[in-house]
Amino acid sequence: MKNVCLLGATGSIGDSTVNVIEQHPEEFKLHSLAANTNWKKVAEIANKLGAKRACMFDANAAKELKNAMPSLDVLTGMEGLCELASDPCADIVENALMGAVGCLPTISAIKCGKHVALANKETMVMAGPVIQDTLKANPKSFITPIDSEHNAIFQCLAGRPNAEVECLEITASGGPFRERAIETFGDITLKDALNHPVWSMGKKITIDSASMMNKGLEVIEAHFLFDIPYEQIKVVVHPQSMIHSMVQFRDGSLMAQMGAPDMRIPIQVALTWPNRLKLETKRLDLPTLGKFTFFAPDFDKFRCLALAFEAGKAGGVVPSMMNAANEVVVDAFLKERIRFVDIPKFVESVMAKAPTLNGRLTLDDALAADAEARRLAAELVK
Ligand code: MG
Repeated sequence: MKNVCLLGATGSIGDSTVNVIEQHPEEFKLHSLAANTNWKKVAEIANKLGAKRACMFDANAAKELKNAMPSLDVLTGMEGLCELASDPCADIVENALMGAVGCLPTISAIKCGKHVALANKETMVMAGPVIQDTLKANPKSFITPIDSEHNAIFQCLAGRPNAEVECLEITASGGPFRERAIETFGDITLKDALNHPVWSMGKKITIDSASMMNKGLEVIEAHFLFDIPYEQIKVVVHPQSMIHSMVQFRDGSLMAQMGAPDMRIPIQVALTWPNRLKLETKRLDLPTLGKFTFFAPDFDKFRCLALAFEAGKAGGVVPSMMNAANEVVVDAFLKERIRFVDIPKFVESVMAKAPTLNGRLTLDDALAADAEARRLAAELVK
């Protein structure tokens, strides 16, 4: 029996995780959970699965939750998230928080030797070298990725050494604007951008998918998770989203992981690895699917994807600044304060102000860069 700490319990990954835990009551117990403001949903999940502890990032929401459930140990803020992540009773810390807020809890969990099931890609983008160094210093800890592409690569790699890998091929659905003419990008509305063809996800990641910044963040995430140079990471547009990513090995074998686009599959793999348990989900029926198609990405149309490769290759604080600027700019787009085409423009202009870093990125560097990029981006969207 493994005790799970679920950070980010009220989003779509949280929902899928709750379902996976419910399908395996003999394997997993939800020990603790955290969310930003939705205390009612946290109370509902805690009741249903018998969680002992919870953290509401928002202090008022924490008060409401404590009033509603006096028997629950309720924490708040970043301190609360980190306390849950380092709780000796938690065997697995699943981080499904949204954005850079997930960084410190991930580091706390690694320092306590936890198995971290990581859905929060911004953690790796903002502070990849710090996560790598913290893992090295805490060899008991390990990460299993939940992001479907990284989970696919993780399964295809199956522990083989990097020397055997020629390249990683990260698949992308291409989002809602794959076939839209670049000349009409100026007319894209918020509603257009929120209409993802395959996955049903939170708003921030849905906009990131439309701009393909999501794929860019995933390229950087893959670089740090698997320690593979950017020159050996490719993006392949695959609109059906049935192949979740691939690994090209040096012997010519191209390994692909396939499955229905259902996040419960990578979540369960991340929680049970290296074992495989029964999971009630849809199975792929290849004859009814007919055909799979593949395209090279259009870097002119999806400038954010090009920016992410640039940021990754530049290294230092550039990925942290790109990530933070993107969070601010996407939030402004969601509030309809800027246009879709402004997203890459503003992100690029923040990236251009990134200072050169001497030496390897530290947590302080990453946090300072994150704050500075947020300040610069906020000025731009004003
Ligand atoms: Mg993904």
